Amino acid sequence: MHDLNADLHCHSRYSDGTLTPKALAERAHANGVALWALTDHDETSGLAEAEAAAQSLGLDFLAGVEVSVTFAGETVHIVGLGFDPNDLALREGLARTRGGRLTRARAMADGLAQVGVGGAFEGALRYVSNPELMSRTHFARWLVDTGVCSDTGSVFRRYLSEGKPGFVPHRWAGLGEAVRWITQAGGVAVVAHPARYKFTVNEEFALFSEFKAHGGQGVELLTSSHGHADTIKYTGMAQEFGLLASRGSDFHSPHESRIDLGGLPDLPAGVLPVWQSLAHRVRRAT
Ligand code: AMP
Ligand code: MN
Ligand code: MN
Ligand code: MN
Repeated sequence: MHDLNADLHCHSRYSDGTLTPKALAERAHANGVALWALTDHDETSGLAEAEAAAQSLGLDFLAGVEVSVTFAGETVHIVGLGFDPNDLALREGLARTRGGRLTRARAMADGLAQVGVGGAFEGALRYVSNPELMSRTHFARWLVDTGVCSDTGSVFRRYLSEGKPGFVPHRWAGLGEAVRWITQAGGVAVVAHPARYKFTVNEEFALFSEFKAHGGQGVELLTSSHGHADTIKYTGMAQEFGLLASRGSDFHSPHESRIDLGGLPDLPAGVLPVWQSLAHRVRRAT
């Protein structure tokens, strides 16, 4: 149970991944994943397709989502697992969170035009498969394919991270709101990739305390953007705050992602896996 090859974080074409839910299910299965969740950004439309594909492969599946949240002026991602995708409050909350992405994308393109990169909105739009979910990743793909930058990492460094010409501050969901949407729909809320946030020690403590106070239950220890030291640090935080441990590749694309579906190491010892509390929510292959 502890060393299950669970991959509980990845993206399909319904947000900023390049593969269909079915192709992701096949890839997860082929790579030895035993429990899989699809976690598109602010979007649950791919879950029915993902579950059907998982069922036909004999792969255990959990509903998932990655909610964009604003906390202490920064964007934080909260992964929801094992909720009821038909829950109305969750659906409405996510729809509101998606709203404004197109306006933001136009403002991003204006910022890029001011530094000489014209046509970015139309360019990025060509990479978008879900019109409600235009993300920075789509701009990054266009900037790489047109030769402005050599890889997505340098696009983010030069153009799309805070303070850079294509970055537009955006107000996402509140932390408490996002945690409530997930938990009241019967799911478990998990802090995604905690090492990626640029918080002070005090802000990070506030994030974990408030997350827990709102009913959040888990934290990702293993994910593609975490190094070994990050895993050790957040294992300590999980123990300190009494949080369950999660594990997910955050896979987006065969060409861009450093770690493939199912490619993470086992959870460290001394933590409880989040899937232990989600057994009743697993959509088992029949
Ligand atoms: P958005 O939700 O539009 O702000 O886009 C956020 C997405 O951009 C993340 O989910 C990642 O897929 C991608 N992203 C953020 N930072 C980086 C980075 N440094 N390198 C590559 N992709 C990134
Ligand atoms: Mn993404
Ligand atoms: Mn994320
Ligand atoms: Mn993600």
